[in-house]
Amino acid sequence: MHKPTDPLEIKILMFYEGLAENNATSRAVRELKKDLEAKEAKVIVSESPTDARAVIASDPEIQCVLLNYDENDEQCPSKLCRILQDIRARNANLPVFLLSDRYKASAIPSDILDKVSDFIWILEDTSDFIAGRILAATERYREFVLPPMFKALADFAKVHEYSWHTPGHTGGTGFLKSPAGRAFFNFFGEPIFRSDLSISVGELGSLLDHSGPIGESEKYAARVFGADRTYHVTNGTSTSNRVVLLASVTRNQVALCDRNCHKSVEHAITMSGAIPTYLVPTRNQYGIIGPILPAKMTKEAIAISIKENPLVSDEVDANPVHAVITNSTYDGLCYNVEKVKELLGQSVDRLHFDEAWYGYARFNPLYKDRYAMNGNIKDFDRSGPTVFATQSTHKLLAAFSQASMLHVREGRNPIEHLRLNEAFMMQASTSPFYPIIATNDISAAMMDGPGGKTLTDISIREAVSFRKTVARIHAEHKANNDWFFNIWQPDYITDPDSGQKMPFHEAPTDLLAKNPACWLLHPNDSWHGFGDIDEGFCMLDPIKVSVTTPGMSDNGELKDKGIPAALLTSYLDAKGIVVEKTTDFTVLFLFSIGVTNGKWGTLLNALFEFKRDYDSNTPLERVIPSLAADYPERYKGMGLKDLADEMFAAMKELGTTKALAAGFAELPHPDMSPVQAYENLVHNNVEKVKVDDMAGRTVATGVVPYPPGIPLLMPGENAGPADGPLLGYLKSLQAFDRRFPGFTHDTHGVEVTDGVYEILCLKK
Ligand SMILES: *Cc1c(COP(=O)(O)O)cnc(C)c1O
Repeated sequence: MHKPTDPLEIKILMFYEGLAENNATSRAVRELKKDLEAKEAKVIVSESPTDARAVIASDPEIQCVLLNYDENDEQCPSKLCRILQDIRARNANLPVFLLSDRYKASAIPSDILDKVSDFIWILEDTSDFIAGRILAATERYREFVLPPMFKALADFAKVHEYSWHTPGHTGGTGFLKSPAGRAFFNFFGEPIFRSDLSISVGELGSLLDHSGPIGESEKYAARVFGADRTYHVTNGTSTSNRVVLLASVTRNQVALCDRNCHKSVEHAITMSGAIPTYLVPTRNQYGIIGPILPAKMTKEAIAISIKENPLVSDEVDANPVHAVITNSTYDGLCYNVEKVKELLGQSVDRLHFDEAWYGYARFNPLYKDRYAMNGNIKDFDRSGPTVFATQSTHKLLAAFSQASMLHVREGRNPIEHLRLNEAFMMQASTSPFYPIIATNDISAAMMDGPGGKTLTDISIREAVSFRKTVARIHAEHKANNDWFFNIWQPDYITDPDSGQKMPFHEAPTDLLAKNPACWLLHPNDSWHGFGDIDEGFCMLDPIKVSVTTPGMSDNGELKDKGIPAALLTSYLDAKGIVVEKTTDFTVLFLFSIGVTNGKWGTLLNALFEFKRDYDSNTPLERVIPSLAADYPERYKGMGLKDLADEMFAAMKELGTTKALAAGFAELPHPDMSPVQAYENLVHNNVEKVKVDDMAGRTVATGVVPYPPGIPLLMPGENAGPADGPLLGYLKSLQAFDRRFPGFTHDTHGVEVTDGVYEILCLKK
C-alpha cells in the first residue's frame, strides 16, 4: 500500500485510442491494465494525443509511458513523435514502451525508435509477464529519479525503529502528548517528523564531514551546478557568504566589496576584521541599483580606491585578496562574468559572486557567460582567479527557506577543502535540519538534464508574455492620452538577424525568450538610466519584472502628476497579491520556478482595477480597508486618487527620490573599520542619537534603507554634516513617514519611536 513516507505513487500513462473496442489488441491491453492495477499501479488511459500531452505536461509523477503503435492509423507516427518530444524535453530517463507486434516493428520510423526505451509485444507475451516488465522498469526509474540524499532519507523514514537520540520528539511521537503538540503534528504530517534526524544517524552521513549520502548529494549538486565542489548550507546564503569571506580574508587585509552588498557581507567583514574597499554601483532615476561599471574594476581604478581609503593604514596590507560582487542584482541586472573575471582578476586571486537570487542561471542558454559557474568546467581557466558562487536555493528555485549552496571552482590561490571546511564548521550548526539538505538535493535533481531548461523556459516565457501585454496596454492607453502602468525594459527591440527595429510589445515571444541580445543594456539608452555603460557588460534578466507607476521621467525629474508605487503595493496587498519590493515608482515581481501558467492574469486584472479605482477616486475604505481602519483620522473621507496626489506632492516637496540619489552618490567617510565599530558596540561605548542630532557622528551599526537595501552607512562610517546628503536622505524618509502612517519606510539600523528616527552611534 502507498504509505505517507513513500515518496512516489506508481503511475503509468497509457496512450491507446479505442480501448473499449472489441479486437484482440484492445482486449489484451485491457487485460494488461487490470494486471497493473492489481499490482497497485495507477494507470491513466489517454485516448487522444492531446490528452496524453496534457498529462505529460501536468503530471511529473508518471513513471512509465506505454504508447500504442497503430499501424492502421496513418497519423500514428506523427502523433507519437509529438508525444515523445514532449516527454524527452522534460525527462531523458522516463521509461517509454511501444506496444506493437514483432512483425511490424521494422516499419517504425527511427525518430520514434530513438526516443523509446523498449518494445512490448502485446499479443505474444502474457499480460502478467508484461506487467512485471513494466513495473521493473518503473522500479529502476524510481531508483534513479530520486537524488542521493533524499532517497536515503525517504528510505530511512520508512524504517520504524525506536530512537534514543535527539531530536527529542523522536519521529513526532513527542508531540502527541498534548493538544497543541498534536495540532502541530497533524498540520505538518508524519513524514517531516520522521525526516528530522540527529547527526548520530549514521546511515545518512554527515554534513560537517561531507560524508555518506549527504556527501554524495554535494557531489551530485556540484555536477549539476558546474562546480569543483559544492557545500550544502542550511542557514541561508547569509551563512554561505560568511563561510567564504571568513575562509578568505582576515584582520587588516583588504577585501573589495560591492557597495550593493547584502548585510551578511557586512557582517562577515566585521567578523573577519578585514578592511572593505567599496566598488560603487551605478543607480538610475528610479533608484534602481545598476552594475559597477568596468572602469571601476580596472587594476588602476582599484589601486586608486585602495589608496584613497582612509582605513588602509600602515598596518594594512594594501594588496586586495578577495572581491565580492552581487550577481544578479535584486532588480535582475547580470554581469558578463568573463569580463568581470578579466578585470578584477588583475587585482585579486579570489572572486566571489553573491548569486542569492540567481541559482537558475546555469540552466538556460539565455544567461550564457553571465553567472559564476558558467560553461563547461573542463574549460575553466585554472590560472585565473578562484571563483565562488553563493546561491539561495530557496529564493528562486524550489527549496525550503534557509537552503543555500556554496559552489567553488579552484583557480589561483585556492582555499582547499580542509581549510574552507574549518570556516564552514565555524558557521554551521551541529544539528542541521535534514529536510533542508534534502531540498537542496531535490532542487539539483529538478534542474538536472532537460528539466532545468524546461522549467526555466516556463518562467522566462511567462515573464515575457506579461511584459509584452503590459507594454502593449501602456502603448494603447498612451495613444488615447490615457495612462497605464509600464515595465522597466527596453522600449524597442532590434531583431539581431534581420536588423528590424520594433516596439517591445511587437517583438516575437520566441525572440525575447531565446535571444540575450534583446536584454542587453546599450550605452546611454534612456530607459535604463545607467549612462555610458559598456556594450554587452550588463543584461536585464526577464524574470525579474519591475512594473513602473507614472510620475518619473527618464531624466529623473518628477512629472506634474504621479502615483507613488507604495500605494499600488498597498492596494495589491489588500487583494492578497504580495509583491517582492517597492521603490518610489517601481514594484518588483519575480517569475520564479513556482510560477504557474497564466498566474499573471490575476495581477493584470488587479492593475486594471487599480486604474479604475484611481480614475474614479474610489474611497479608501473600500479599496484599502485596513488603512482606513488603522488610521481613521488621517485618511478619513479620502479616495485613492486623493491619497496618490497628496503623497506625490509630498515626495516632490521632500525630494525623496533625489535625496536617495544624493545619499548614495558618494561614499561616506569611514572613521574606523567595521570591526572597531563593533568592538565599541560590545563595550557599550554607544548611545542612541536622533537623526536630527547626528551631524558628524560615527554610526555603530549599519544603516540600510529597504529598498534599495544597500548600506547607506556601514558601521564605523560618519553621518556627515546636518545638511549633507546622508542625513538629508534619512530626514526626508522620517518626514514622509510622519505624514503617511501605514506607508512608513523600513530602514535596518533605525529605531523609530513616535515618528523619530534614532540610530546607535559611538559615544563622543
Ligand atoms: C537574500 C540575500 C542573501 C542572504 O540569503 P539568505 O538565504 O536569505 O540567507 C545574500 N545575498 C543577497 C544578495 C541576498 O539578496
